[in-house]
Amino acid sequence: MMNVTERQAMVVKNDDVVVVGSGIGGLACALSLAPRSVTLITKTPQLQGGSSLWAQGGIAAAVGPNDSPAAHAADTLSAGAGLSNPERTRQLTEEGAASLQWLVQEGIPFDRDLHGALALAKEAAHQFARVAHAGGDTTGQVLIQSLIERVREAPTIKVLEDSFACDLVVRKGRIQGLVAFNRNDGWVFHKAPQVVLATGGIGMAWWHTTNPVEATGDGLAMAARAGARLANLEFVQFHPTAMAVESKKGASLPLLTEALRGAGALLLDESGERFMLTEHPLAELAPRDVVARAIHRKTCAGQRVFLDLRAVLTGEHAAAFPQAIETARAAGFDPYEEPLPITPAAHYHMGGVEVDNVGRTSVEGLWACGEVATTGIHGANRLASNSLLEALVYARRVAGELRRAPGIESGELSSLPKLPDLPSESALDALHELVNKTRDTMSRYVGILRSGDELDIAYSKLANVARNLRDIDTVSSQLQTPAIDVVRQWGEARNLILVARLVTLAAMRRKESRGAHYRDDYPQSRPEWQKQQSFTVDTLRGAH
Ligand SMILES: Cc1cc2nc3c(=O)[nH]c(=O)nc-3n(C[C@H](O)[C@H](O)[C@H](O)COP(=O)(O)OP(=O)(O)OC[C@H]3O[C@@H](n4cnc5c(N)ncnc54)[C@H](O)[C@@H]3O)c2cc1C
Repeated sequence: MMNVTERQAMVVKNDDVVVVGSGIGGLACALSLAPRSVTLITKTPQLQGGSSLWAQGGIAAAVGPNDSPAAHAADTLSAGAGLSNPERTRQLTEEGAASLQWLVQEGIPFDRDLHGALALAKEAAHQFARVAHAGGDTTGQVLIQSLIERVREAPTIKVLEDSFACDLVVRKGRIQGLVAFNRNDGWVFHKAPQVVLATGGIGMAWWHTTNPVEATGDGLAMAARAGARLANLEFVQFHPTAMAVESKKGASLPLLTEALRGAGALLLDESGERFMLTEHPLAELAPRDVVARAIHRKTCAGQRVFLDLRAVLTGEHAAAFPQAIETARAAGFDPYEEPLPITPAAHYHMGGVEVDNVGRTSVEGLWACGEVATTGIHGANRLASNSLLEALVYARRVAGELRRAPGIESGELSSLPKLPDLPSESALDALHELVNKTRDTMSRYVGILRSGDELDIAYSKLANVARNLRDIDTVSSQLQTPAIDVVRQWGEARNLILVARLVTLAAMRRKESRGAHYRDDYPQSRPEWQKQQSFTVDTLRGAH
């Protein structure tokens, strides 16, 4: 048995750079940091985890015939509904070809056409076929598996799985490292002058989401608590076509990729009619938010909506969608015979930790890339398949900056970071209930269609949830050796609740409709709101 002094011990590890997350952002950053040494930590038992693994469509880059970075930028700006940063968008699209080339060099086996050129798919709101994919619609798996193999081989990368990052340590406005809980070592203070957040999105704040269970907004919440500036939080993209299947409460809904509609899949109402023809000139290929709202209105009116893949699966694209076929079959449907029931689901967060054009946040020594970051490129709505590209480009930029940066002595800390109190065993059900209330509130009031009154209700409900979280029965970490599952449950709950409050606050403040943020009480875009909304967690403390 450990005595109290031993239990109090927190392992201190001196690291150079710590990267949190093993999706495309974290893996690409860690690989690109060589020869600088890096500790890569991830909360899942293996490196496989996060949304990247689930990406189906692919990665957008203007490399096809007749296409150009300028055309790609134009499509990105149009989807972004007036909020995308034009200069950064231009730079991103110009780096598309080089980024794909880097992936090819890393050994990603992209699908090829008969002439050996990259096979490119056309997706909604793209003027040209420009989405490179691997393994048909299993791009994420192929991509991440290959990058993981590279990471495992890299002598400069130390991997720590089952390691839950809890809090950043900041002194005098500068990062000193972070506190994590590791299955083998328990509490660890990773003392490091540079920390990169690549922790992905926030989909778990809603019941209907395409995101994996890891998407609990941990990095966003950690950065918020550390005082970093956050931007565009109100913009959450709902994917129009998740499969409307019974899922275990809290689990993710399977996605039917956008590329299916690009290849000709049709959206049908209950009577088998194509209802998008009257909604938008591009019909099924209208921007995601338009399609999601059209479907949402139908489902709110008690109707069911379907995606019909039959023509796609028997035509020239027959072999391109193995994942969609498997998804449909796993849910008990035959996609060759019947249209599939669908519903919109929270899919991608355009908002996040505000970064400059090399991924630097407002806290010295803290960097962010991938979905947790806001570069300003996606604006009010992300163009399909731009997120993998953006994550990759910014991961490599962060690494480029850090490779050049001298190692900084983080200095001696006068005291170790304080260990958090954790919920007692009897309080775990209550904690779970608070997460459920958060997801109920976000799904009901902070979803695809919003209004001022409903956002007010959500805000006060979530403030209540936060109060209840503070009152939950806790035990000092110094008096017990916690299990990683308890640490993770507690950490994810407090992160999700904080993120939900921040998103709701941002949505309340933006009194207009733009891109993915639609308010019934302000249905139009307003010129005075054609700007990024950025604040710190202090705004939440000061609100209401
Ligand atoms: C079903 C689906 C399909 C998609 N299809 C496409 C597509 O075709 N094209 C496209 O461009 N985009 C697509 N997207 C979006 C895209 O996949 C994501 O935006 C992108 O992969 C995010 O990468 P990331 O590295 O930022 O985060 P993720 O891939 O989500 O990885 C986050 C990592 O952080 C780790 N982590 C989180 N919190 C902690 C913590 N506290 N401590 C330690 N580790 C932590 C997780 O375990 C995980 O390893 C899709 C998303 C989904 C959900």
